Amino acid sequence: MTKTDWEKLKHFSPKEAWGNPSKMSLELLLALDDFRDRMGERFIVNCGYATSGHSPDSFHYKGEAVDGLFEFTNIFEQFFEALREDSFKGIGIYPFSKRPFLHLDIRPTRVKLIWYRDRGGSYHYNFSLKQLYLLGGGAWPS
Ligand SMILES: [Zn+2]
Repeated sequence: MTKTDWEKLKHFSPKEAWGNPSKMSLELLLALDDFRDRMGERFIVNCGYATSGHSPDSFHYKGEAVDGLFEFTNIFEQFFEALREDSFKGIGIYPFSKRPFLHLDIRPTRVKLIWYRDRGGSYHYNFSLKQLYLLGGGAWPS
């Protein structure tokens, strides 16, 4: 991301916790900017580019992933809203972290990969949205 790239964004600046802002992907940031716009609420960046601390093939190492959360919306609702964004192909939810957050990335796949991390720290990739919704304490619409 160049200075000019950052100027294309409405809601984000290089001063946030990107790790290394110059290593972030413009494509990811444009997608995040659109999502942020639609949500109408501040998105807090926990982490963007990283050189360690994630899974071996993590898109954080390419600057193509971000971890963070919208300030007020319930984290499960944020997850469901993220599913509506075509650009995000990897979407993870960490609802049991001290401060719950989402992982969003733009991996080059057509079908989205989604996951959640449970209380014990295990990752789940095969689950129904209903299961996740109930986990969040929501009442599934009948
Ligand atoms: Zn992540």
